[in-house]
Amino acid sequence: MPVGAPQPQVASPEHEQHRLRGALDHAAQELADLAEQTRARAGEDVAAIFEAQALFVRDPALVDQALSAIAENGLSAVQAIELASARQADVLARLEDEYFRARAADIRDVGRRVAAILAGRPRASLHMSSGAPAVVSADDLDASVVAELRLETVAGVALAGGAPTGHAAIVARALGIPLALGLGDDLLAIADGEEVLVDGTAGRLLVRPDSTDRLAVGSSNGAAFVAVADLPPLALPVVIEGNAGSVREVEQAAAAGAHGIGLLRTELLFLGRSVPPGLEEQRALYRRIRAAMPRGSIVFRTLDVGGDKPAAYGPALAEANPALGVRGVRLGLRHPELLEVQLRALLESSPDSPLHVMFPMVATLEEALLARAAVQRATEISRSAGLSVAAEVHVGIMIEVPAAALMADALAPAVDFFSVGTNDLVQYPMAADRTSAEPADLATALQPAVLRLVNNVCLAAREHNRPVAVCGEAGASPLLAPLLIGLGVTQLSIAPQSVRALHEHLAGLDLGACRAAASAALRASTSSDVQLVAETLLQTTSSDA
Ligand code: PEP
Ligand code: MG
Repeated sequence: MPVGAPQPQVASPEHEQHRLRGALDHAAQELADLAEQTRARAGEDVAAIFEAQALFVRDPALVDQALSAIAENGLSAVQAIELASARQADVLARLEDEYFRARAADIRDVGRRVAAILAGRPRASLHMSSGAPAVVSADDLDASVVAELRLETVAGVALAGGAPTGHAAIVARALGIPLALGLGDDLLAIADGEEVLVDGTAGRLLVRPDSTDRLAVGSSNGAAFVAVADLPPLALPVVIEGNAGSVREVEQAAAAGAHGIGLLRTELLFLGRSVPPGLEEQRALYRRIRAAMPRGSIVFRTLDVGGDKPAAYGPALAEANPALGVRGVRLGLRHPELLEVQLRALLESSPDSPLHVMFPMVATLEEALLARAAVQRATEISRSAGLSVAAEVHVGIMIEVPAAALMADALAPAVDFFSVGTNDLVQYPMAADRTSAEPADLATALQPAVLRLVNNVCLAAREHNRPVAVCGEAGASPLLAPLLIGLGVTQLSIAPQSVRALHEHLAGLDLGACRAAASAALRASTSSDVQLVAETLLQTTSSDA
């Protein structure tokens, strides 16, 4: 096997192989411990990342390659594991599937862990010993390094590289650490010690932030996690809820003062699983989630896999364009067995309280009706198995597809509520990929076309007396939230770390001003005009305060 690295003097291949085996065992134990610690801090889904890494340490594809590099090329144990992990990662990184490409980072993470053990080096760790919390900047970070960060010492993470669906990003989100990634070389130009603010909601890094930036992002990163008993009610007719994908995030939302969970992304609960979660397991988890939120309701979104979130246990579909393929409710309706187990678990986990269940990516009335029928069928199956189920069930749909926004008047009678998913509702009408940094100026709800779609939903909902929530990130934006409220949105469901800042921001606004700004935004022809309308409202409010 040709290798480029210079070949070191090693004691004997047998000795190096023995050292490597020992280091692999050690790494497996460390990863099992890390899984255990993160289970408590960040929930099951994050723990599963490190359980999967512990399996990589035992993977013959990695271990055998490293052992034979020692025997055949005379490499040291450190060089052998570095070589084998780099090769395995390169194989994954070349695959089409984004899921596997993101797993390449896990293999590299594992390789670095084993190499550090062999070299007797401490693992990279980012604990600041004193002073105010700091923003950590790096090219990229391993998921396991992010898992050890503490909110007391790290105010945010800024990465030159990194993938939004990578495990480092998922762990940061689950821990509530504001993160901006894909910042490129701009990050290198910022001097050490410069004052910066990470806007985790928009994924931006603000250098020398002014008071408007601070107001927009929250006065200090991570400050939202100070436990609060309750936030005072707002004068505006809007409720702030939290978005969550783990028990830990539900707890964070509760601690931040959120009144319920407006979007529970159930697919994130079962990340990294190779078999679908069973009825019993799902039931138990949904009960834990309910117990973690003391006020308000929890809107459980059914599995939203497919598209940019492939599930390892889901049906493998080769799609040229997965964002337009079988994702969300389309997958559930094509695989009723998956949907039925989830709906039964939701219904059975809530026999004494109302259940809110919501279907993602609905495009047509037929889909909404089929989804509703699936809830009815699951209810009957559970009842005939002798189990009690929720007596009061609210069935809602997400409005993420432009067709659904345009047909909202036809959809409204078939559902109990709408929740506008602006993360997707910006990408489909604007033909601008939400996962790509390039067309970000197009993929924003500041685009008047997107606001007009939301307005259409609000008008239809008002006509049929249905509530409209927004659960996409636009709801957390101080520029957009007042416009959405002015259009008639009555719930904003946002990341837990944004709850406090948004609450403070909305406390100074009145409904008349929001409505006037929303009408002006609907008349605007460009996103810059919408931005101007929103900024004017923001400035008027802060000068009144
Ligand atoms: C959305 O599309 O706005 C949404 C909240 O769903 P997700 O981000 O999970 O696709
Ligand atoms: Mg979506």
